Amino acid sequence: MGSSNKYTGSYWGIDVGGTCAKIGCITNGVFRIVDTFSTGENCHPTGLLERISELILSEDARPAAVGLGTAGLIDRPAGGVIRFSPNLPLWNGINAGEILRTYLEVPVAVDNDCNVFAIGAINSEQIPSEGLWLFITLGTGIGGTIINQGSIIYGTGYSGEFGHSTVREGGIPCPCGSDGCWERYAGKKAMEWYYTRLTGKKASSREMSLLASQGEIPAMEAFREYGRWIGIGLANLANCFSPTGFFVGGGLSATMNHFEASAMQEYRKRCKHQWNVSLLEDSPSAGAFGAASMARKQC
Ligand SMILES: [Zn+2]
Repeated sequence: MGSSNKYTGSYWGIDVGGTCAKIGCITNGVFRIVDTFSTGENCHPTGLLERISELILSEDARPAAVGLGTAGLIDRPAGGVIRFSPNLPLWNGINAGEILRTYLEVPVAVDNDCNVFAIGAINSEQIPSEGLWLFITLGTGIGGTIINQGSIIYGTGYSGEFGHSTVREGGIPCPCGSDGCWERYAGKKAMEWYYTRLTGKKASSREMSLLASQGEIPAMEAFREYGRWIGIGLANLANCFSPTGFFVGGGLSATMNHFEASAMQEYRKRCKHQWNVSLLEDSPSAGAFGAASMARKQC
């Protein structure tokens, strides 16, 4: 007992998204979601992180370490500076790691949401600890994580931005400053655009999925086109990495049954690697669980 017990408490995970922040913790090996805060475009980092810190400090179990995951470019070597945050503009340039360290006085790890999701999946053995795996999240953008023998490969810190690899030179401009980025052709907007282009009507990816299930031709056609671009990107990655296989997560991955065939066909045209693509089980608390797993692993 006494001061040597200071860091035997719980590992906390914070998942900050464009609409809400989920906070959970691992205590005695068991994970639970503790609370959810709303975020949004005008969400100010200092105010939110202060409220989250108060919540963490009000719990009985003293935090041993804290992990934070959020979308965008995270400068890990600089201690968790958010270099570019696509959904939370006020977070650009903020050192979220430092703010939490100041409030909580415990070790803090910060990483992007895709890596954090992958850490949770490695921890729960959904991603095997043997082999080279590429994890891809399909949503508004395309996130990527390179996992070798159960560890993430970071390079100088930013590796895995698969969504910004060029698939068409001179193509659709991207907010990243480049053009023809993969996620401009295989992100959520693109998927929905392929449907609008054929029908003149708007439909969300979820509505499209329902329509395709009912055999609506334009919806099926739009998924075929979307799958073609997924196949192009995956073949590029297979040619670069020769991975054991791929895991796919994120909101659009739920529609994979509609685009897998055309993705596979395109992939096989462009690389000689085996098609080994699996869906990774997603849940609303996967981000917070991953962040708490990261805190336990890295701090
Ligand atoms: Zn881009």
